[in-house]
Amino acid sequence: MTILNHWVSGRPFEGESTRTAPVFNPALGTTSKEVRMATAGDVSDAVASAQAAFPAWAETSLAKRQAILFNYRELLNARRDELAQILTSEHGKVLSDAHGEISRGLEVVEFAVGIPHLLKGEYSENVSTGVDVYTTREPLGVVGIISPFNFPAMVPLWYFPLAIAAGNTVVLKPSEKDPSASDWLARLFTEAGLPEGVLNVVHGDKVAVDAILEHPDVKAISFVGSTPIAKYIYETAAKHGKRVQALGGAKNHMLVLPDADLDLAADAAVNAGFGSAGERCMAISALIAVDTIADELIAKIGERMKGLRTGDGMRGTDMGPLITREHRDKVKSYIDSVNGDGAELVVDGRDPEVDGEPDGFWLGPTLIDKVPATSKIYQDEIFGPVLSVLRVGSFEEGVELINSSPYGNGTAIFTNDGGAARRFQREVSVGMVGINVPIPVPVAYHSFGGWKASFFGDTKAYGPDGVRFFTQEKAVTRRWLDPSHGGINLGFPEHN
Ligand code: NAD
Repeated sequence: MTILNHWVSGRPFEGESTRTAPVFNPALGTTSKEVRMATAGDVSDAVASAQAAFPAWAETSLAKRQAILFNYRELLNARRDELAQILTSEHGKVLSDAHGEISRGLEVVEFAVGIPHLLKGEYSENVSTGVDVYTTREPLGVVGIISPFNFPAMVPLWYFPLAIAAGNTVVLKPSEKDPSASDWLARLFTEAGLPEGVLNVVHGDKVAVDAILEHPDVKAISFVGSTPIAKYIYETAAKHGKRVQALGGAKNHMLVLPDADLDLAADAAVNAGFGSAGERCMAISALIAVDTIADELIAKIGERMKGLRTGDGMRGTDMGPLITREHRDKVKSYIDSVNGDGAELVVDGRDPEVDGEPDGFWLGPTLIDKVPATSKIYQDEIFGPVLSVLRVGSFEEGVELINSSPYGNGTAIFTNDGGAARRFQREVSVGMVGINVPIPVPVAYHSFGGWKASFFGDTKAYGPDGVRFFTQEKAVTRRWLDPSHGGINLGFPEHN
């Protein structure tokens, strides 16, 4: 069985651990490789490599950094088919979706190529007689990145290109469930000319994560994952004196008003509810339909769901398997609970017809109507192909429901009424809002992040916030003496 090693100092690194974990091909239901699980000592070696690489990398000119990033962008784009194959075979998402993930990651690399412009400081001349003030942005040092299983390429790409472009060095700990994409991305960066030690990848679980969080040479932590772990990461990293951004889980609502284009809304609900088998932090899992159009909308969604083909993502299907057998069983157990709580199962995905191997971790798209707001199906983040419908009497009731959710990642409204959309945008307590757009993931030059239990920190991912997160600002007050200088004054400096 192949064993995936860590990547440290620009080459594979076995480390001292004897522990490994299986990596599955979820469409086949078989183990494809084992991945090493780092010890605290292995993490320490990776941090030492990043720390050793930091001074020279931070001194590397912007022109040189930009050239390496540009090479990386070109290589990644040219070889994206290889990466898509890795994503589909370890995560299970269909190939077209894997390409979508890569495109969104590439966007951030392209943003990072503009680093010379992004690091420009501010300048004020003659703030006091003969005195100028200016700011510079400096890198932090070694930064730790901890990523989830559901975007094995895109989430690491949200962070490391910008961290590195800004002059930091990185230790990345990807999800142990689909670790090969990070290994591939790091190898490719070396090929693009990145010096050894600037990007290191350690594989593992809580042991590796805790070692990163506690290591004194790691200055900042960027995390994406579930809410309980995000909260833990935020608190632990902060306790150890680190800057931290921790993006958590979600329960995203889509509100459909009576004047909406119901065909557009039905397409959007199906795409955003079942794309990537619902394993997206921006998936729509709660559809809020105003009573008067609920039946018609549900009929349109049900009709579209009949056309979805579940199966092996390598075979041109629409929806792949779930990440593990355990996760599939957990999602299924929510569907099992439906009859107990007054909800109605409209489309049951528990026994799907599949274009794939029988042992794959399959679950078909599922639609549940009249879900009570008190039920676990509504309250939990299910993270699977299960779309719940909640019926409301009015716009106000819909907004109230969304705002009472503990999560606040993404939301969407479907309407043709500009005034209603504007009111929704202003009143909803959610970090990313779509207006007739179901998955409002901001482009790379805006920042990504939710509110409430979907985000712990104050500086979001990528975009302008990403640049701020990975740099610290220095303010310089400068005076060059001229012949008029002289005299001693112990007072607090004033401007004149
Ligand atoms: P997860 O929280 O289980 O794992 C995320 C990372 O944390 C992994 O690298 C994992 O190894 C590590 N980890 C797990 N348990 C840990 C522990 N006890 N201590 C320390 N580290 C631990 O998340 P997941 O299942 O890999 O990913 C799915 C979750 O991520 C969903 O909740 C989804 O909403 C969320 N997510 C959020 C966003 C966002 O932008 N807000 C994006 C993608 C995914």
